[in-house]
Amino acid sequence: MAAYDVLVIGAGNLGLWTAYHLAKRGVQRIAVCERSWAGYGATMRSAGIMRQQGGSETAVKLGKWSRELYQQLGAELGVDSGFREVGYYVVASSPMEKAVFQRLVELRTANGIPNEWLEPEELCTRVPYVDWSRFVGATYTPTDGYVEPAIVMRNIVMAARARGVELFEQCEVRVIEPLQSGYRVETSRGVFEAERIVNAAGPRGARRIGELLGIDVPVAASRHMVVSFPERPVEIPPAFPMMFVLASGFYLRPDEQGVLLGFSNPLEQADPSDRFLLDFDWNYFERLRPEWEATIPSLAGKTIGRAWTGSIDYTPDQLPIIDEPRFGFYVLAAGGHGIMWGPGLGMKMAELIVEERVSELPAEEIRLSRFAEGQLAADAIHLPFPH
Ligand SMILES: Cc1cc2nc3c(=O)[nH]c(=O)nc-3n(C[C@H](O)[C@H](O)[C@H](O)COP(=O)(O)OP(=O)(O)OC[C@H]3O[C@@H](n4cnc5c(N)ncnc54)[C@H](O)[C@@H]3O)c2cc1C
Repeated sequence: MAAYDVLVIGAGNLGLWTAYHLAKRGVQRIAVCERSWAGYGATMRSAGIMRQQGGSETAVKLGKWSRELYQQLGAELGVDSGFREVGYYVVASSPMEKAVFQRLVELRTANGIPNEWLEPEELCTRVPYVDWSRFVGATYTPTDGYVEPAIVMRNIVMAARARGVELFEQCEVRVIEPLQSGYRVETSRGVFEAERIVNAAGPRGARRIGELLGIDVPVAASRHMVVSFPERPVEIPPAFPMMFVLASGFYLRPDEQGVLLGFSNPLEQADPSDRFLLDFDWNYFERLRPEWEATIPSLAGKTIGRAWTGSIDYTPDQLPIIDEPRFGFYVLAAGGHGIMWGPGLGMKMAELIVEERVSELPAEEIRLSRFAEGQLAADAIHLPFPH
């Protein structure tokens, strides 16, 4: 008999939430193997945006479940969940975007998410520090917010271990060999045997882990950048609502006493370096500067307290993967939304393993084979990712 019922590869947000949900469903022997330290991949580098305003049914549902799960976990542990509910404006820059956004309000509302379309006149009253003459309107959800990635990691590690999950750090998975029943896994910390394996190895591992069994997992990595202004201009209130200017690919949220600004260059290509820490593209930062300075004039000329880059994961349609392409071998990927969807993705992966089905999500938005079939739907609300 294999030593573990399930071995999860990768202790990022996805892998740990999967292990936690499996343990909660009564699976006894669960190992999580992490090449580095828990959370030290994309997860801890993220900006923590927690948005239910998705651009597809899957995105909307995963956002809703994940928000609830973060809060439930805080309550279960008796510590803060790390979630801050400040509300979120997703901003439309053209009539075409406006039409798409207005359709999405219906989808979100039908799924129980408070969401409304607002014209610039109303937005000028609500958010007076933004120059709304540049935009055609925005959608708004008051229950969106952000999480602190470090707190999220603290909580999910604590909760998974409390339920008996064994976490092996500095444990790189190198070889996977199918057995008559289950798998033999060679790692930098020795050999494991498990009945089932979950590939949750993120932007810098999911594809390679798939290759070990000859399975194509189209998860790639590209550069994403974040800067933080330590002080908030007086015009911007504390705990101000977040905003995402979809067409320009930048977003803002509160960060301690200041303001965090995240952005991706639409011309960014897949990064083949295998690193999480990448060069900061100051040239692009300067090219984007007129955009955000014109949008929020009070931010112009503010000094920067910190700036960082990270490898963000993406799939060709920005949607997740929740699938079992080979008996007992599962693939889980977030399509670049692993903070806002991670808890929900872990819940659905546990459902697939225990019940052999994924309920409530459209199969065409989550199954791995859609990429080979070329039947891609695409999520309407996402960062600019490489094509
Ligand atoms: C700068 C930045 C900002 C972001 N902002 C947001 C945001 O605001 N909201 C949002 O929803 N998403 C955001 N993201 C995306 C989000 O961080 C990711 O989608 C999410 O963290 C992916 O989680 P994961 O568990 O799949 O990957 P990871 O966190 O990378 O975890 C995978 C783990 O697998 C390990 N691993 C890889 N190969 C092996 C191996 N062979 N053996 C053992 N272990 C292995 C890695 O070391 C890693 O720790 C951001 C990303 C970046 C880089």
